[in-house]
Amino acid sequence: MRYLLLIAFALLAACSRAAKENLIITSSRPAYLIIHEIVGERIPIKNLLSPAASPHTFSPGPSEIKAVSKANIVFYIAENLDGWAADLHAGHAVEMMNFLPDAMIIRSDNHNHDHDHDHGGSDPHFWLNPLAVKAILPDLCKELSGIYPEYKVDFERNSKKFAAELLALDSAVKRNLSAKSGKSVFTFHPSFNYFLKQYGLTFGGSIEAFPGKEPSPNYISELTSRINSAGAKVIFSELQFSKDVAQTIAELTNTKIAVLDPLGSAKEVASYQDLILYNSLILLENL
Ligand SMILES: [Zn+2]
Repeated sequence: MRYLLLIAFALLAACSRAAKENLIITSSRPAYLIIHEIVGERIPIKNLLSPAASPHTFSPGPSEIKAVSKANIVFYIAENLDGWAADLHAGHAVEMMNFLPDAMIIRSDNHNHDHDHDHGGSDPHFWLNPLAVKAILPDLCKELSGIYPEYKVDFERNSKKFAAELLALDSAVKRNLSAKSGKSVFTFHPSFNYFLKQYGLTFGGSIEAFPGKEPSPNYISELTSRINSAGAKVIFSELQFSKDVAQTIAELTNTKIAVLDPLGSAKEVASYQDLILYNSLILLENL
């Protein structure tokens, strides 16, 4: 009897650990892809945002709130992008952008996605520069090891391997896009600034100044003249947003539309490396 009770108690303990600790939550797919590289298959990771949704316009429902309450740690990209994930969690919520060295942060006055959380106009899309991701790996390892000290060595080994892959990825993209150096890129919203800066491309302008901001007739007319004077042949929409406005601007400027995927929602994107390569290829083929 005592033996049975001991087994029951052990099972209960295991269950409670599983319920409380053995789950990592990520807010959106870029956070998931990065954390997955460090964690591997050791610990389950649940991503909150569905592939079709944009973190900018997302509002969490009961299932997200329930998922987060079970986890011991939540990773999100930045307060002014997916800060809603931090608001869901009373415990340990980690803002990944906090670990980015100041010198790597791109300031952008017109990129305050959320007017209630203006953090000095920092552009939150840092994950589109592989070297920015490399820069935050040691701190992410530290956060994970604080919760799961038994896997510290694994996290560090995976992280070291990932860092080397990021360097190789950066060189490959640099090499591939060198032929397009200096070209103006027009995006749906200012989501690619880190990528463009890293790979010698120029941000020409965006269809929406920030997500959810419908362009005014004045804004559209200024944008179309910028597209025309840059001699652009293409404008880039995004997988998570409607193509309607892009269509109007494409017709006005006689450009075609190609679709970028800053979040890595496309079915071809299975890893962080895929996310960068997928977008590089679209830019390379269309610019
Ligand atoms: Zn954005």
